[in-house]
Amino acid sequence: MFYNLDEGAKRAIEDLKELAELTSDEKGAQRVAWTPEWQKARDWFKVKAEELGAVVTIDSAGNQWAKMEGETEEAAAFGSHLDCVPNGGGLDGALGVIGALEVLRQYHRKGIKPKKTIYAVNWADEEGARFGYSCFGSSAASGSLDIKELMGRKDGNGVTFEEAVRMYDVEPENISDAHTQMKARNLGSYLELHIEQGPVLENTGKDVACVYGAAGVERHSIEFTGQSSHAGSFPTRMRQDAFLAAAQSALSFKEIALKYDAVCTVGQVRVEPDVVTIVPGKCVISLDQRTIDPVDLMKMHEEAQRVVDQAAKDHGVTAAWDKICTVPPQLFDDHLIELCKAAVEEETAEPANMYSGPLHDAVEMATQVPTVMMFVMSEGGLSHCKQEHTPDKKLKAGVQAFLRLADKVVNE
Ligand SMILES: [Zn+2]
Repeated sequence: MFYNLDEGAKRAIEDLKELAELTSDEKGAQRVAWTPEWQKARDWFKVKAEELGAVVTIDSAGNQWAKMEGETEEAAAFGSHLDCVPNGGGLDGALGVIGALEVLRQYHRKGIKPKKTIYAVNWADEEGARFGYSCFGSSAASGSLDIKELMGRKDGNGVTFEEAVRMYDVEPENISDAHTQMKARNLGSYLELHIEQGPVLENTGKDVACVYGAAGVERHSIEFTGQSSHAGSFPTRMRQDAFLAAAQSALSFKEIALKYDAVCTVGQVRVEPDVVTIVPGKCVISLDQRTIDPVDLMKMHEEAQRVVDQAAKDHGVTAAWDKICTVPPQLFDDHLIELCKAAVEEETAEPANMYSGPLHDAVEMATQVPTVMMFVMSEGGLSHCKQEHTPDKKLKAGVQAFLRLADKVVNE
């Protein structure tokens, strides 16, 4: 291997700091997609990539592709996203884009043409922070983007999606062309380095892991309807308390999650009429269930329906389900998983494999191109906030493991 891992990792950490200085304030990183701060980050990416001899183009969905010509047409893409949530952290997305730049740099530094053509890609609007649609750019490239869903959506200031993207040279009517443009790039693989954004690696004392897939999601809202009544005069046994049915269900969802070693989250609760002295006649909750096994995911959803029926019966209320979305679990590519596992073991001398709970651009790409991800631990599991942090020593292990993986993929 001619890659210089130590130097590469140090430079990636310097780049992360440089980008943070350019696009953060005292509240955190401010690279929300379709804003001037985000554009600053994109300009920074373009300059960095061009310094490394790459040619940067922007596709119809606003994704930036930095291309380094290889000896063959077959291409390997590396990337992630430079956008972030408001008051976000410095690593979410940025680490993967900078890791991708570092792959380019390994060849530029030596003046060697890579065996395969290499792309470093910066996906547009992964977070959906402004218009509520996650993985915009990568889903346009994968062809799964529901553009009608986005048309007419407004941000908090009443600016429409169409108006916002036009300011960054994206024409709404051409966005879906990003799919054919991606197809034309002849990608044989896509690799993404990302922080874990959870506490699992830290808790198991590991720094880096091979990510073999991403959890599927079943997301619903459940509306319990009982009868509002006076909090003083209505006896407990005679109430039709919609909140209690929801609360009982929520506790049962936790048991389901534990049984399947998965996660079930009630993140939203709304009671009506929301008055101290009135028994709630209505309660609407959200339920987000995730796991990697499609059969488990189905069973978890069925069991959730059963416990809701029981809770409704116990409290004399009715329950109505409304689907928000279903995302099937996505397993990554077997061969790339093997290479990724090997890279992690070479770097850290121990195996570490996990699946991702959150969605990532890689999950979109995995439907089109052999894909794998690598996670680096997140201190305290914190992310999407200013406190998001990974100690330099562990970041270094992550970048070095990723470069080992890149070397395997580009040179096989
Ligand atoms: Zn991310």
